Amino acid sequence: MTINIGVIGTGAIGREHIRRCSTVLQNARVVALNDINRDNCQQIVNELTPEARIYDDAIDLINDPQVNAVLVTSWGPTHEAFVLACIEAGKAVFCEKPLAVTAQGCMNIVEAEIKTGRQLVQVGFMRPYDSGYRALKAVIDSGEIGEPLMLHCAHRNPEVGDSYTTDMAITDTLIHELDVLRWLLNDDYASVQVIFPRKTRKASSHLRDPQIVLLETAKGARIDVEIFVNCEYGYDIQCEVVGESGIARLPEPVSVQTRSAAKLSTTILTDWKKRFIDAYDVELQAFINNVISGEMTGPSAWDGYAAAVAADACVAAQTSGEIVPVKMADKPAFYR
Ligand code: NAP
Repeated sequence: MTINIGVIGTGAIGREHIRRCSTVLQNARVVALNDINRDNCQQIVNELTPEARIYDDAIDLINDPQVNAVLVTSWGPTHEAFVLACIEAGKAVFCEKPLAVTAQGCMNIVEAEIKTGRQLVQVGFMRPYDSGYRALKAVIDSGEIGEPLMLHCAHRNPEVGDSYTTDMAITDTLIHELDVLRWLLNDDYASVQVIFPRKTRKASSHLRDPQIVLLETAKGARIDVEIFVNCEYGYDIQCEVVGESGIARLPEPVSVQTRSAAKLSTTILTDWKKRFIDAYDVELQAFINNVISGEMTGPSAWDGYAAAVAADACVAAQTSGEIVPVKMADKPAFYR
C-alpha cells in the first residue's frame, strides 16, 4: 500500500521530509503541497515531486479526499490551526515541533483528538528514533545501572544567527531534551531552574549564552542540561545517566579515528542535520507505517503538550531566577 501525503510548509525541514518520502522511505508519495510562498512549492515540484498538486489554501489540501495523511512543516505559530483541521478531517498528521506555540494550544489539540476517539497526531520529536538514544534507553530499562539518579547533558551548537534570542535556547533548542529525557526516564518534570554562567564573548549582545537548566523529575532524579549555542567547536549532544550501580552514556556518532601529526583524533560534527539524519528517516517511516496500520506510536499530542508545559516553566525561570514548578494537567487515559 502507498499512502498519499500532503505537505504544508516547504521550507528547510519540509523540503528535507519531501526528499525523504520521495527517495529514501517506502510506501508513501507526496501528492499535494502548500506554502505561503507558492514559488517554494513550484521549486519542489520541479526538482522532487513532478506529480504533486500545489494548493493555495492549506485547508483545501487537508480536505482533499486524495490526501491520506498530512505533514505540517510550516512556521510554528501556524501548527495548531493546521493540526486541528487535520483532526476535524479525520486525517493522520505528522506535525514538526512545536505542536503549538503555547501549552493551551497543545491542550486544544489533545482535547480535539480525544473527542474523535482515535489517535491521529505524531509530533516531530526525532530523538527517540535515534539509535544511540534507543541503546541508552535499553540499558536503563534493563536495570543494569539501577534506578537513574542524575543526568548530565549538553546541547552545543557552533554558532547561531543574530535573530536567536535567549528564550529560543528553551523553545527551539532545549525542547528536544525536554522530550527525549522524559521518554528516556519514563518520568515527568516537577520543577525547573535556569542559571546563567559567565557569558561568552562570541554571543550577540542580546543573547545570554551559555545557560544551565536544572530539572527535577517527579521521581526525584536531577538533570542538568548545558545549552551553549556559540561553542564554536561543533554540534555536540551529550547525555550521561548516573544510576545507583553504574553510569551509561549516549554513544558518540560514528567517526573514524586517525593517528596523524602526533595526534589521535576523531571528527566532531558541525551540522545538526547530519547528527540526526538517520533518526529523521526512521521517525518519518514510522509515521508512514502508523498511517498504514491505523495505530499511532511515537511522540503523541500529549508528549507535545508535556514538552510545551516544561518549556513554559523554563522560560519563566529564565526571567525570575526562581525554581518554577511544572504544572501539568492529569494524563488522560486515552494516552496511557
Ligand atoms: P522555514 O525554512 O522557515 O520553513 C517554513 C516554511 O513554512 C516556509 O516556506 C514558510 O514560508 C512556510 N509558511 C509560513 N507560514 C505558512 C502558512 N501560514 N501556510 C503555509 N506555509 C507557511 O522553517 P524550518 O526550519 O523548515 O522549520 C519549520 C518547522 O519545523 C518549525 O516549527 C521548526 O521548529 C521545525 N523544525 C524542526 C526540526 C527538528 O529537528 N525536528 C528541525 C528544523 C525545523 P515563508 O518562508 O515565506 O515564511
